[in-house]
Amino acid sequence: MEHNNSYRILLYYKYVTIPEYESFAKEHLEYCKELGVKGRILVAEEGINGTLSGTIEQTDAYMRYMNDHPLFSDMVFKIDEADGHAFKKIFVRPKKELVTLRYDTPLDPNVIGGKRLSPKEFYEQMQNEDVIILDGRNDYEYDLGHFRNAIRPDVESFREFPEWIRTHMQDVKDKPILTYCTGGIRCEKLTGVLINEGFSNVAQLDGGIATYGKDSEVQGRLFDGKMYVFDERISVRVNQTDEDITVGQCHHCGSPTDRYINCADDTCHAQHLCCDECLETYEGYCSHDCKANDTKSQAV
Ligand SMILES: [Zn+2]
Ligand SMILES: [Zn+2]
Repeated sequence: MEHNNSYRILLYYKYVTIPEYESFAKEHLEYCKELGVKGRILVAEEGINGTLSGTIEQTDAYMRYMNDHPLFSDMVFKIDEADGHAFKKIFVRPKKELVTLRYDTPLDPNVIGGKRLSPKEFYEQMQNEDVIILDGRNDYEYDLGHFRNAIRPDVESFREFPEWIRTHMQDVKDKPILTYCTGGIRCEKLTGVLINEGFSNVAQLDGGIATYGKDSEVQGRLFDGKMYVFDERISVRVNQTDEDITVGQCHHCGSPTDRYINCADDTCHAQHLCCDECLETYEGYCSHDCKANDTKSQAV
């Protein structure tokens, strides 16, 4: 019999050279299929990044299997409990890079990443007046939730960061910079870029927001709104205190909401925040135009 809460969602990454990463990806996919876990795993010469769901038994077996591998014996897994799978399929994709940057200076893999701060250290340093808190994610992730007073980078994808930093952050080079992302993988490269660009005091949240929200002492304090995740849950609570608020704003009317949907018109499919009322009014379309277009094409 199936019982609730007997599933888990794992999130993990490690920057480490994986020789013959393409054949590694192939074998890894076979293993995952046999085990029955679902999710999305990226494998590159520079490392591995995965998020997957499975039963407690399956995820235990997966973590053991990974920790038995000499390259991944120290892999840290972030674990969420769940009622079922958070993915429909399993993908293991070989990629040139784990996170793609449009950057002309190659980052030394040995010095990737700035100073790592524990959730408690990050929480304390955020309260320093002088500090610049830089969100290392995309604009739509920020819009659902972020650390209080963090800068919203005007980027739709990670590769735009180097250019954005050069045009928007030149006057804060000597200030202390704190960066964060979902699990830590993106900030490691982001801090590498910042250090390369001459920023002198850069630190990152170790383990990302995912770890921060689970810290029993900090309890997600100073994180406003929800954390965007790349699985079927889409949003996850971070702030465990009664200061938990909604910062997402409905794309149509601006009222507070945590719900992201994709436009019901398949040719548009634009992801947008949508409140209960507007979901009814717009029937899941991002605009009246999309609704009209879609109705027309269905009538043909
Ligand atoms: Zn609305
Ligand atoms: Zn649309």
